[in-house]
Amino acid sequence: MKQYDAIVIGAGILGCMTARSLRRWNISTLLLEKEEDVCRGITRANSAIVYAGYDNKPGSLKAALTVRGNADMEALCEELEVPFSRCGSLLVAYEPEAVPKLEKKLSNGRKNGVPGLKLLSGPEAEAMEPMLKKGVAAALYAPSTGTVNPWLLGIAAYENALQNGAEAILGREVLAIRPCPEGYQVETREEVYQTRMVFNCAGAFADRVQGLAFAPEVKLKLDGAEYLVFDRLAKKPERVIFYQTQSSGKGITAIPCTEGNLLIAGVRKDMTIPYATSPEGLVEMLDRVKELLPETDTGLVIRSFGAVRPNPYRDSGESIPDYVIENPAPGFYSLIGVKTPGLTCAEGLGMLLAQRGAEYLSAEENPDFDPKRRGISEKDNDILCQCEQISRAEILEAIRRGASTVEAVKRRVGSGMGRCQGSRCSGEIARLLEEYGHGSL
Ligand SMILES: Cc1cc2nc3c(=O)[nH]c(=O)nc-3n(C[C@H](O)[C@H](O)[C@H](O)COP(=O)(O)OP(=O)(O)OC[C@H]3O[C@@H](n4cnc5c(N)ncnc54)[C@H](O)[C@@H]3O)c2cc1C
Repeated sequence: MKQYDAIVIGAGILGCMTARSLRRWNISTLLLEKEEDVCRGITRANSAIVYAGYDNKPGSLKAALTVRGNADMEALCEELEVPFSRCGSLLVAYEPEAVPKLEKKLSNGRKNGVPGLKLLSGPEAEAMEPMLKKGVAAALYAPSTGTVNPWLLGIAAYENALQNGAEAILGREVLAIRPCPEGYQVETREEVYQTRMVFNCAGAFADRVQGLAFAPEVKLKLDGAEYLVFDRLAKKPERVIFYQTQSSGKGITAIPCTEGNLLIAGVRKDMTIPYATSPEGLVEMLDRVKELLPETDTGLVIRSFGAVRPNPYRDSGESIPDYVIENPAPGFYSLIGVKTPGLTCAEGLGMLLAQRGAEYLSAEENPDFDPKRRGISEKDNDILCQCEQISRAEILEAIRRGASTVEAVKRRVGSGMGRCQGSRCSGEIARLLEEYGHGSL
């Protein structure tokens, strides 16, 4: 039976960051993921915002990690060679009754140490973002808000974890966890592993994964959200626009993505099929876009997708606003119900888990840890994806790094993300995958 100091379950952004952080110490680490690629769960479908940190309760772990994660995001993205944009944000209110909510967030944000927050008058906000529908009552400006590609950040952390000696097996679902004198035995269909520590980063399944060994105190109720992606040609605001309505459930968020697309996030909704969208939800979102950003050409939508939100609650029914790291037994750590802003806090949460593990094992620091990962940037003149101008060399490098499907290549280099959504390049990429196999270049 193979033995490790740590097994991380789930290769979403939190599992990938945790595996990377564990390798800052001499902790042998195995990452197990049930899907055929990393970051296929919540990490692939979210709003891509690096939050400023004014939403979170002062004094909470979430508030501290958000403000720190935001401040550190530039350095992290430089280390991992992932694009990051500190574009700022406006939280806009049109109804005078919604303005006190902005004032409350301003006060929260100041307590949390969010830099540069300012309450703007309607005309000031409209001058800053001329695309906004006129009649803004007030807006909260947060210059530190940013955007990052969530799955690319997760993939980069994954590659860096492997570079630093972590092992990973994809397509391995953890089915059982048995406490034993040496720690835990972690079972998959194919193999059983021995480990001293377990890090449960199973996202929407984290309560079930903890339940394989210990009854979880925190459980998850899932709901959904819907998104629209606009072509890069669509006119977009410069900053992230949050629409604060007095009545909850009506606002949308407009996000200028690092790739140049406009992303629109809709409101929370009940979930029927995970990651599915609904015609009525999309129509409603388009109506809201026309209302908030009247100049947006709604004919330029190129994609829509659905998301899954894990909402943590206790048996008493009480919902849990802060992050909880469950530690039901020595060496067993669970992140259950990390939702927004888990992307912003991913490095901080991964580091927190790794520090706990290092303390538990009295592990020594790894002097060879190298935080730097090289992005895929070498192009050649053979352009395969015409919309996004992605070359054969980039696609081959993605395959060499482990991409085994057209979708996995897309998520590493952006092929198929443009207007034609891959209809022109997918066939050739599939052919290359077949020719070169999975990472065997
Ligand atoms: C709609 C939405 C919008 C959001 N927007 C933002 C935002 O703009 N900014 C921000 O900071 N945060 C945002 N978040 C939060 C952030 O996206 C999440 O906190 C983060 O992506 C969660 O990552 P994860 O690794 O926990 O989950 P996941 O990405 O779901 O990863 C968990 C992994 O565990 C695997 N797994 C599950 N069970 C097993 C098993 N038994 N064996 C092996 N593998 C298993 C799954 O396949 C999956 O890959 C948003 C969240 C949601 C839901």
